[in-house]
Amino acid sequence: MPTIIEPFKIKSVEPITFTTREERKAILSKAFFNAFLIKAEDVIIDLLTDSGTSAMSSAQWAGMMLGDESYAGSRSFFHFENTVKEITGMPIVIPTHQGRAAEKILFTILGGEGKYIVSNTLFDTTRANIEVSGATGVDLLCPEGKIPTVPAAFKGNMDVEALEKFILEKGAENIPVCMITVTNNSGGGQPVSMQNIRDVKAICIRHGIPMYIDACRFAENSYFIKMREKEFENKTIQEIAFEMFSYADGCTMSAKKDAFANIGGFIALRDESLALQCRNLLIIIEGFPTYGGLAGRDMEAVAIGLREVMEEQYLHYRIRTMEYLTEKLVSAGVPVMLPAGGHAVYIDAKAFLEHIPSEEYPGQALVAALYLEGGVRAVEIGSLMFGKYDEQGRLIPAMMELVRMAIPRRVYTQSHIDYVAEIIIEVYRNRRNIKGLSITYEAPTLRHFTARLREV
Ligand SMILES: *Cc1c(COP(=O)(O)O)cnc(C)c1O
Repeated sequence: MPTIIEPFKIKSVEPITFTTREERKAILSKAFFNAFLIKAEDVIIDLLTDSGTSAMSSAQWAGMMLGDESYAGSRSFFHFENTVKEITGMPIVIPTHQGRAAEKILFTILGGEGKYIVSNTLFDTTRANIEVSGATGVDLLCPEGKIPTVPAAFKGNMDVEALEKFILEKGAENIPVCMITVTNNSGGGQPVSMQNIRDVKAICIRHGIPMYIDACRFAENSYFIKMREKEFENKTIQEIAFEMFSYADGCTMSAKKDAFANIGGFIALRDESLALQCRNLLIIIEGFPTYGGLAGRDMEAVAIGLREVMEEQYLHYRIRTMEYLTEKLVSAGVPVMLPAGGHAVYIDAKAFLEHIPSEEYPGQALVAALYLEGGVRAVEIGSLMFGKYDEQGRLIPAMMELVRMAIPRRVYTQSHIDYVAEIIIEVYRNRRNIKGLSITYEAPTLRHFTARLREV
């Protein structure tokens, strides 16, 4: 088979600033070994996140010029609304400035003390919005999803037995929503099967619980369904996405992911009375219901991006990028999460840096080493991000020490990915020289964003 090429030509370029190893050494220590504190222009390849970092198409940029900035009833809103309606089949569309605003609105209304929101895995902003409302977020991920190195087709699936058990234990009346995240971002971008969505829906119907989808990566998930579930091999991405949404009572989405937009989000719903409450809150915190915190031009970009993301050539290239990087790393012996997910490649830093204990943050040490070696910026998902302290002040480590390399959409070419692989493999060869880190400053919450560290 010929090489799977980038399904686009490049019309506009943004130069990369190069740094020397000496310069990066100084930058790293000035940033206290925290990649969040490094300036973007000091980064050669930026894999911190795939959120809001997409390259827009020429059609999207042209749409920006067509944006109708009218306060009420703008043409761009109707373009946006019609597109979301057509893709999801849901009759009500409420724009928000990004995904977490949609979550804030939904869970302010549906959450509250004593309630439980069940999920395959809640994304961190989703969980935060649930918990701020007083409700409890519950992750019921399938067992195979919890073992990073054992491959399976749908490691993002919800554990349906655990769901049934949980509902019986807590009572359906205390569970206002079951939320399925596609793909499972916090679980490595692993997909959820259509069969699992059907099974979860059947349980929800039996107990009268509405089912929602966190749809940030709906197109990537639909592509995995097409590739891995026989029944769907001849269906289009649009058909698969439509069926997926057909089981849902509503969805929230961050358009910063699978809509190729730099900002944006929405809630889509079927329930008129819930929509009324959502819109009332929207007006207070986001804006009038026909713009919800977005400029008209942003709604144009989202509407166009939502269609582009379902093109199969694009998804083919997109998913292949993760596989390609994963294969290169596996063949060099680098421990990575298997199989490759939809938007990122995860290194198992505990196995990579066996000589560094959790107390010395192996994930963060690896992030620092990748930056030093080649100016590649990744993010730690381990004990720096999730670690807590016990009563004696000892670290309670996270379950896993991972380093995530999230790939922005349509931004990097194959040679950029080759370069990333080379840097990781070089760091792996010299891994014994990498030192652990200790924290010198940390904030009381979400410490990973601002923590300062130094080498042990
Ligand atoms: C990014 C993300 C969100 C939140 O969206 P923002 O636009 O960052 O507010 C929610 N859920 C998932 C799965 C995400 O990846």
